[in-house]
Amino acid sequence: MRERIYLCLAHMSGREQDFIKEAFDSNWVVPMGPNVNGFEKDLEEFVNKVDDNGRIKELDRKVCCLSAGTAAVHLALLACGVGPGDEVLVQSFTFCASSHPITYLGATPVFVDSERETWNMDPDLLEKAIKDRIAKTGRKPKAIIPVALYGMPYQIDRILEIAERYEIPVIEDAAEGLGSRFDGQVLGTFGEYGVLSFNGNKMITTSGGGALVCRDEEAKKEVLFYATQARESYPYYQHEHIGYNYRMSNICAGIGRGQMTVIDEHIAHHKHVQALYRELLANVKGVTLHENPTPRFDSNFWLCAVTLDPALKVKGQENAYKKVITGAVGGAAGVTHAASSATTDCQPNANVEAMRVALDAANIEARPLWKPMHKQPVYNEAPAYVNGVSESLFAVGLCLPAGPYVTDEDVRYIVDSIKNAIGN
Ligand SMILES: *Cc1c(COP(=O)(O)O)cnc(C)c1O
Repeated sequence: MRERIYLCLAHMSGREQDFIKEAFDSNWVVPMGPNVNGFEKDLEEFVNKVDDNGRIKELDRKVCCLSAGTAAVHLALLACGVGPGDEVLVQSFTFCASSHPITYLGATPVFVDSERETWNMDPDLLEKAIKDRIAKTGRKPKAIIPVALYGMPYQIDRILEIAERYEIPVIEDAAEGLGSRFDGQVLGTFGEYGVLSFNGNKMITTSGGGALVCRDEEAKKEVLFYATQARESYPYYQHEHIGYNYRMSNICAGIGRGQMTVIDEHIAHHKHVQALYRELLANVKGVTLHENPTPRFDSNFWLCAVTLDPALKVKGQENAYKKVITGAVGGAAGVTHAASSATTDCQPNANVEAMRVALDAANIEARPLWKPMHKQPVYNEAPAYVNGVSESLFAVGLCLPAGPYVTDEDVRYIVDSIKNAIGN
């Protein structure tokens, strides 16, 4: 049996251990230090470079490294003044880390559905939601969170235009879109804040970690203050605000510095894998690859995603969902919550589940698209502005392996396995 092909595995450059060794040798084994500063500088250099068809521009955003992307979302919301009773507009088609921190602050997420081109926040629906929230509550939502799902840029030009018109700050969730660009500009640098993630399966990793892209030094200082328990400047601990312990460790930042030496290679490899899927899937009927809608969009293709025509017959689809699954998706460590049923009222089509099972049997990890947040039981009560797009994509979509470990031969094997699973 061949080795299992995973969605996106961490891939080391070999330089990580040098930076970690330096941290040990200089006894900087704490949540601050030279690696944290160095990693922030590397990230700033990376995100600030704009290449719009040869027109080179430098931005001057500042980056604050944190313990997780989720922490970055949390602190961005805090910095936007989100508190109990407030509402925040957030893309429904996302991973839970985009919306959960809204609830940490006692605020309510208001979910906005996607458009079909990018699968991300629908600008028309966004504006409709803003108007309706103002009409219903008499208050403006406190922030707007679009998400670069699987790395694909959102329609940031239109979203920014609306946000500016209503004077609502944008927090870009670019956790999956590190290095994705719109008009040559890196995601995370358009909005008031930009969220990055360095979790184990993201574009680069620090084992776990994240960062917040801030407009300027002053905004970064504010975030840093709240990330380090909001300590006032006194010789003793003086607290006038509630803070968090969210700063990145100097050890993790050492991994990050090593990863920054290969980030361009990683992104190029993900794009290469996407191009190969494009070529090999071109004449596979009923299987469609998710692509950049126009050249203005430049996805990092963190994960490659396909949709299956509902009419496509996949072997074994009559047996899909017969068994209750025992492990959480992604194999979250130590998860003990058993599923109470084999099905829910919103799930991928039987042919998609059968394809996932067939690929799994061929030792290929594939995963359904993220289930929209407005269909999650935990958000039953949250307002949602929907158009059916994210639900219909969730029914037909599947994520395929794309990381640096995925070879050309792997992609051929994956596409062959997809073809083999198709019935007649
Ligand atoms: C991974 C991810 C995050 C943040 O993740 P951490 O695991 O906390 O670093 C936020 N939003 C999205 C959409 C993500 O995929």
